[in-house]
Amino acid sequence: PLSFTVFAFSLLPSPLPAHPALLDAATGETVSFPAFRSQVRALAGGLRSRVGLRRGDVAFVLAPARLDVPVLYFALLSFGAVVSPANPALTASEVARLVALSDASVAFAVSSTAAKLPAGLPTVLLDSDHFRSFLHNDDRGEVVAPETAVVHQSETATIQYSSGTTGRVKAAALSHRNFTAMLAGAHALAHKPRHGRDRMLLGAPMFHSLGFYYALKGVALGQTTVLVTDTVARRGVKGVVEAAERWAVSEMTASPPVVMGMAKERCGLEALERVVCGGAPLPTTAAEMFRRRFPNVNLCMGYGSTEAGGISRMIDREECTRIGSVGRVSENVEVKIVDHITGKPLSVGQRGELFVRGPAVMTGYVGDDEANASTFDSEGWLKTGDLCYIDQDGFLFVVDRLKELIKYKGYQVPPAELELVLQTLPEVVEAAVMPYPDEEAGQIPIALVVRQPGSKVTEAQVMDHVAKRVASYKKIRKVLFVDSIPKSPAGKILRRQLTNYLQFGAVSRL
Ligand code: ATP
Repeated sequence: PLSFTVFAFSLLPSPLPAHPALLDAATGETVSFPAFRSQVRALAGGLRSRVGLRRGDVAFVLAPARLDVPVLYFALLSFGAVVSPANPALTASEVARLVALSDASVAFAVSSTAAKLPAGLPTVLLDSDHFRSFLHNDDRGEVVAPETAVVHQSETATIQYSSGTTGRVKAAALSHRNFTAMLAGAHALAHKPRHGRDRMLLGAPMFHSLGFYYALKGVALGQTTVLVTDTVARRGVKGVVEAAERWAVSEMTASPPVVMGMAKERCGLEALERVVCGGAPLPTTAAEMFRRRFPNVNLCMGYGSTEAGGISRMIDREECTRIGSVGRVSENVEVKIVDHITGKPLSVGQRGELFVRGPAVMTGYVGDDEANASTFDSEGWLKTGDLCYIDQDGFLFVVDRLKELIKYKGYQVPPAELELVLQTLPEVVEAAVMPYPDEEAGQIPIALVVRQPGSKVTEAQVMDHVAKRVASYKKIRKVLFVDSIPKSPAGKILRRQLTNYLQFGAVSRL
């Protein structure tokens, strides 16, 4: 029975909960579970009969967070179409590249994003009467009776684009099997439903793999999923924190900048029990501040990637106190640490590249044989590109991304490790470490630092703080004070933009 799945419908809880399936954090508008199910069915029928979509067709989604986006995801998945969501902030040329990569045959957009789509690509506008008539099945005569399509586990469910923080954009294909595996893990961990009080605020964007998965998972587990929509999203971290308070959420997914914001904002959050944080390293000081501020909230760190799904996580309070770790490896995930130069397996405590294998690992990159050949080895292990180690108790630590290591006189310096050290200095709000070309050393590590307003901390003090805490080859050789550090929606430092900054902005100061 496991080789086939009925993705959308079989995963809705039964009986359907009485509390809402979706809640718009900006307007308070809701979609009940019965309405969600009937909208999914009506939409799936309409998309097949009136738009002519078939299983295997790739649907490109370029839309901000809206209540109808999870409905659209479920509807497409239910008959085997492939959902391919992208960041609505991308430019037209970036969008064209992604559409070509995934070979999308139809797009879903809103009026404000549709102009970025390539000409000639059939497009359905989510904010049109036409789409609303699909959702509510207004034109009943034309809609094919909904049937639960059976989708093979090996078929592609979604194509997710990497944000390209480390190189060219790639399109990862994830199968229905991948999601079945991830959801099985989630079912095993789910809190008991608590009569409608179980509300999960989706702090991660729905176009990114983590938010995409959580948008499906919340509904499948019978939680109310609170969506961070327009006016709330525009207010950034402040808006997210206020929404969590206003809607008394019990759980939220949050990127590290949101967790840091929560620790600093004035907020009540009495109902909050659990925060799932992941996507980028969370500074230890921020985690400690958060735990002091919210002693009753379980701050769970999760580590994973678009390509590998969830790899590790913290579950209970005892684990959550393991500072700096990203938790224990999840069930269903096989891992090994390999010397990234010799390829030899390493043992406990030794640092090397993390390799992952298991049912949640992607089927591969679409149309990129070169990337597939360099990402998978001959035994099907996926190379994560992350420098990691596992301690004697089985806790996983992510040191840095291998591609981002700075090469100083033949030594490898992990910028993420230095960023965490920099953030232990109270005067430092944010920091980014990057390589700078140097004739003698090859590259030297330099730091861009955002100071607390009014702070007079000097370059020498910052460098000294780091020098006292790391091996001398890792010392920061130069500090530039800046106003902000560019970050991706998942909270990752956009290192290529930093390079531009240095080339065009501050280079004369070095
Ligand atoms: P890119 O395009 O650069 O791959 P992305 O944000 O689109 O970025 P993801 O698949 O979300 O792609 O990124 C996964 C990577 O994020 C991991 O390989 C790891 O380097 C980093 N990461 C994720 N979670 C954590 C965490 N909890 N701690 C440290 N690093 C993390």
